[in-house]
Amino acid sequence: MITFLSGGTGTPKLIRGARYHLPDEEICVVGNTAEDVWISGNFLSPDIDTLIYLFSGSLDTTTWWGLTGDTFHTHEEIVRLGGDEYVTIGDRDRAFHILRGDLLRRGMRLTEVTAQLCASLGVRARILPMADTAVTTVIRTAEREIHFQEFWVRYRGALPIEGVERRWSTPPFATPEVLSALQSAEGVIIGPSNPVTSILPILECEGIKEALMDVPVAAVSPFIGDAPVSGPAGILMRALGYSPDSHSTWNLYRDVTDFFIQDIRDPVDVPGAIRMDTLMNSQGVDSALAGAILSLIAGK
Ligand code: GDP
Repeated sequence: MITFLSGGTGTPKLIRGARYHLPDEEICVVGNTAEDVWISGNFLSPDIDTLIYLFSGSLDTTTWWGLTGDTFHTHEEIVRLGGDEYVTIGDRDRAFHILRGDLLRRGMRLTEVTAQLCASLGVRARILPMADTAVTTVIRTAEREIHFQEFWVRYRGALPIEGVERRWSTPPFATPEVLSALQSAEGVIIGPSNPVTSILPILECEGIKEALMDVPVAAVSPFIGDAPVSGPAGILMRALGYSPDSHSTWNLYRDVTDFFIQDIRDPVDVPGAIRMDTLMNSQGVDSALAGAILSLIAGK
């Protein structure tokens, strides 16, 4: 079994490629939950949703969120009634959030809720939230602190940032399911996800780094030059005092990785890095990249 650490865009693209080489039963994904949020009374777990939709064949891969062909009647009506729903939630997408919120309120763990949703859709990969307790990435601006979703979706990332922090009431522990998925894996792949909002929250969960010591780990950079392929990773790295590039990403991951992969176009020099085409925008690149990483891991 191969276990991925994933956010909701870059790593899911790589997982799509890995599915050409591995049956879904052989894939496990530990998903970031530090972007989770209650909205309009329901529980969004954006990265976990993207992964569930990817494996159930219903993900809208033009945006990498939401379901293909979804409608937005409920969202439009909520906004018309004066509701402050800053995320555009599809009607069928919302059904997941309603059911998840309901099951959580009844006392189920997020891991169990996710397993139930996966089973009902016939998903054969294991999708595991990194932790069962709440962790939130917040953005500090001059006026106030806001949830990362609000920063990125409502304000389109256009507010000056004073800091990025994680908030919780109890420090997050990796779940027993996550620890066992790391310990029993033939290899772990940290995909090209946002280091600040997707991968570090997973690595910060108690138990994860130790579990990664005994297994081959490959990580893929989400940066080419001084910019991410997409999204706010650049401004968030700067907010933490890091340069937004592959070298800083390697520094953040180097204590847990055996292989660091950066793009063939990347002008930044990272000692010992392996060069591959990581730009998964054209057909076949995702599967070629995944195949090459799986071979690296198998040869270790
Ligand atoms: P989020 O949860 O939606 O923010 O998604 P992730 O954290 O999983 O992924 C966002 C990161 O994916 C960004 O930093 C992008 O630079 C990176 N990314 C997206 N597509 C690609 C790609 O094709 N290649 C590489 N190398 N990185 C990518």
